[in-house]
Amino acid sequence: MIPSATHKIAVIKGDGIGPEIVSSAMRVLDKTAAQYGFRLSYKELRAGGCAIDDCGVPLPSDTLEGCKSSDAVLLGAVGGPKWDSMEPSLRPERALLGLRAGLGLYSNLRPALLFKELASASPLKDAGEIDILIVRELTGGIYFGDNGMYESDDMLPDGSVKGVVAYDTEAYSEGEIRRIVRQAFELARGRNKHLTLVDKANVLRTSRLWRSVAGEIASEFPDVTLDYLYVDNCTMQLIGRPSSFDVIVTSNMFGDIISDEAGMITGSIGMLPSASLGAPGTPGMYEPIHGSAPDIAGTGKANPLATILSAAMMLRWSLDESEAASCIENAVRGVISAGYRTPDIASGAEGEIHVDTEGMTEAVLKFVV
Ligand code: NAD
Repeated sequence: MIPSATHKIAVIKGDGIGPEIVSSAMRVLDKTAAQYGFRLSYKELRAGGCAIDDCGVPLPSDTLEGCKSSDAVLLGAVGGPKWDSMEPSLRPERALLGLRAGLGLYSNLRPALLFKELASASPLKDAGEIDILIVRELTGGIYFGDNGMYESDDMLPDGSVKGVVAYDTEAYSEGEIRRIVRQAFELARGRNKHLTLVDKANVLRTSRLWRSVAGEIASEFPDVTLDYLYVDNCTMQLIGRPSSFDVIVTSNMFGDIISDEAGMITGSIGMLPSASLGAPGTPGMYEPIHGSAPDIAGTGKANPLATILSAAMMLRWSLDESEAASCIENAVRGVISAGYRTPDIASGAEGEIHVDTEGMTEAVLKFVV
């Protein structure tokens, strides 16, 4: 008999609703693993506010080491008002930057999927079918470029002194662009074969380098249609014709902005998963796009579906268990179709079954078949 695979998962529950939603996802993972004949071994690690409380730093070194030696990382969320007044280098969110940098996670995948049953939660009147995958570069660009501040005695045309000048620098290398654009092409090839590069090539030199690298790589993917959109136009088109997008690839800052916009048009923040990936063969990190929601922590109002869907992404992208991943995604579709609603996605329509975090988890477990 072939022994079943055991996947090593580093689990960071984090703060606020993190422990509730990650526990839900682990229960769903366990049932799915039993169904599909593989094993999961979990190692719980601390990061964020709870790590500050326990060890004085947001990302203890044994947490990073534990993540590096796992097959994948499942994260809830970190942060909360208790730690808001800490100095920036010690805030819980620093743990996320440390994990991204330490694990070399250069690409952030954010699916924005509108379930037709939740169309009324979208702020768009006729949202139609929305199924967009945003691929955001995560470790380069203006958030990581040279920055600084200096005092200038130079004058503005109106005769006043410039005073303090602050600057941030956007820089990308061909190599950084090539690895993420190639990944986006591969993802588009597995979906509807349409890739849109979002940039500001009419103004920015870095964007023109993105275009030239993407144009080169396009010849390796003749089956995928590549088009280009300026970021300002993209923000409008996402609202005007969201169903015409398939995969979007873009830089760190543009991706930060448009992925939030795409998330918003799909309705609830409690439904949206994400994956952060590095070089093939290294552990990816999976987390819901929302934060630790301290306002509802401990009330049972947290929607666990974004974390459960993040666990499904983990099975697909890091653990090579795509059938099990589809099983979880179908289970989530099933509970939504059956009418189960946590408060964030409830509209009061007839047929809705109102549930708390536990009730939603139980419903998903029932649909994992
Ligand atoms: P948030 O995403 O935590 O909450 C925004 C709103 O959405 C709140 O009203 C919250 O109740 C609701 N919400 C969020 N997730 C939900 C869910 N699963 N089910 C139902 N409702 C949900 O954003 P915030 O309030 O700006 O941030 C709270 C804390 O989280 C801050 O400390 C922030 O820095 C941190 N944060 C962490 C991450 C992360 O860990 N990746 C991301 C964003 C924010």
